[in-house]
Amino acid sequence: MVDVLISNERLKERIRELGRELTEYYKDKTDTLHAVCVLKGSIHFFSELVQNIDMNVEYSFIQVSSYSGVSSTGRVRVKSWIDEPIEGRHVIVVEDILDTGLTLSYVIDYLKRYRPADLKIVTMLKKLGRTSLITPDFTGFEIEDKFVIGYGLDYNEKYRNLPYVGWVRGELK
Ligand code: 5GP
Repeated sequence: MVDVLISNERLKERIRELGRELTEYYKDKTDTLHAVCVLKGSIHFFSELVQNIDMNVEYSFIQVSSYSGVSSTGRVRVKSWIDEPIEGRHVIVVEDILDTGLTLSYVIDYLKRYRPADLKIVTMLKKLGRTSLITPDFTGFEIEDKFVIGYGLDYNEKYRNLPYVGWVRGELK
């Protein structure tokens, strides 16, 4: 039984707002933003967000993982990486959820080596009460410390296509 934590309507409304915030923030700084989608979990958030940013947006996709089941393994594995130059660019890293920040701090450290003009982080969800290595610049929703699924987030590759963010009451299958 999956309980809805954030409905599709609330997600879309907040993402529209985030798009406006980002447009406002970047409009006097650059005419092209380079958005990095952290796969696979950010896929829906990324897709909705970039459509709500009113300027040119270039895309990169990277895939890293540190989770197995419901907990972080503490090791970050890179499966694919950016294939566009980001030196001197205004870069925004688009993440699904920030928990310990371990995955993202690794990604950020590496991206900084390419010398972007500016690098910001936007996350759809941030877990309250967790100590994170990373402070996001833009946050969609702060949620309690629960394992959530849906809108891109999986449990062993399942549930990603739920149109809302939810959590499973009882045992995850
Ligand atoms: P961190 O490195 O910040 O601890 O974890 C970040 C990554 O772990 C996220 O990008 C996501 O893939 C996964 N993750 C963290 N918390 C959750 C959660 O509650 N649900 C799901 N499905 N994945 C999570």
